[in-house]
Amino acid sequence: MIRVNENFLQIQQSYLFGTIIKKVDEYAKENPDAKVIKLGVGDVTRPIPQVILDAMHKAVEEMGDAKTFKGYGPEIGYDFLKEKIKEYDYKRSGIDIDISEIFISDGINSDCGNIVDLFAQENRVAIADPVYPVYLDTNVMSGRSGDYDKETGKYKDIVYLSVTAENGFIPELPKEKVDMIYLCYPNNPTGTTLTKSQLKEWVDYARENKSIILFDAAYEAFVSDEDVPHSIYEIEGAKEVAIEFKSYSKTAGFTGLRCAYTIVPKEVKAYTKEGEPVYLNKLWDRRQCTKFNGASYVIQRGAEATYTEEGRKQILENIKYYKENCAIIKRGLEEAGFTVYGGVNSPYVWLKLPDGEKSWDFFDKLLKKANVVGTPGVGFGPSGEGYFRLTGFGTKENTVEAVERIKKIWN
Ligand code: PLP
Repeated sequence: MIRVNENFLQIQQSYLFGTIIKKVDEYAKENPDAKVIKLGVGDVTRPIPQVILDAMHKAVEEMGDAKTFKGYGPEIGYDFLKEKIKEYDYKRSGIDIDISEIFISDGINSDCGNIVDLFAQENRVAIADPVYPVYLDTNVMSGRSGDYDKETGKYKDIVYLSVTAENGFIPELPKEKVDMIYLCYPNNPTGTTLTKSQLKEWVDYARENKSIILFDAAYEAFVSDEDVPHSIYEIEGAKEVAIEFKSYSKTAGFTGLRCAYTIVPKEVKAYTKEGEPVYLNKLWDRRQCTKFNGASYVIQRGAEATYTEEGRKQILENIKYYKENCAIIKRGLEEAGFTVYGGVNSPYVWLKLPDGEKSWDFFDKLLKKANVVGTPGVGFGPSGEGYFRLTGFGTKENTVEAVERIKKIWN
């Protein structure tokens, strides 16, 4: 008899965005004339900058010529892209990353999910709450979560690092010892950040406790405050204890093209039962070369073009555009009487719902009354209950209209 991986049966609800899409589709079917504005799923809307398109066109042409044709590439990425990452994303900020520490992939969704392969099942996992659901779900699938408690909405063996308005969205260091710590900054969904000194406390914790920090910096390009780091390696000692995930998805509009990278420094290690250190750079290399055949050549040429002068200029313009949308949402919702967080160093605005309103109730109300789609905070973790996420990734036109509709109803 073929046995199923019963860890999958521990997953409590269907994937958040799948539920939203289903609800919106049902509503649209019943109300075919409604002009629904989607500020829910964190997907970009600005087209790919021309300089990146040109680079990809050129790469496509190379594929049609026997002299320049490319078959399988290096599983962990081409050096031409890694050299640019090393120079522009790290060296220019005073961070020394070797190209052997850079692993190119088709997205950090996969990398954040796959990284669990490197760690023993008995590790204690700490996850910010609320946060991007992939960290929790992949640990449930790989058997680290323990049983689900319906009453608290939490898994028994996961340490939840609550981030709410009460603690200023700053996670407290856990009282118990944890081994794998997931931090996502700027945070999805709250749009809040940690300063360098706040992040240093986590790096110090990880060094003292022989833990590892899995740092998701998907939104670092939105950071504008001086004291907010763009990379965890800006923090002294982080190279010993942190793996960092960065993506071109939100930075350069690659959500549909797919390209990202993960940094596994040479120094970062986990331990055998006997306490012997094992360096993770080699393990991740082995894992990727076995289970992944590399991001496409054409897309990597596109990612390379994000580092040209013109590419960087066009990308910054897009980020400015999304941040202006956030400012419109933030201002409009404050005028409508909501308490609003995030939206400054991040593309996400996080609303505190008044009078203890539940996230999914607000989702339904917003969809029906204003024909606007957002994301219920509770979908990102139990501490997200009573909150709601709107994104700056829509078009300016839709953002302005959505905010006007909300203001009309809630003023
Ligand atoms: N990490 C965070 C925090 C995200 O919000 C997302 C996408 O929304 C991802 C990772 C996925 O990134 P990618 O498109 O590179 O798979």
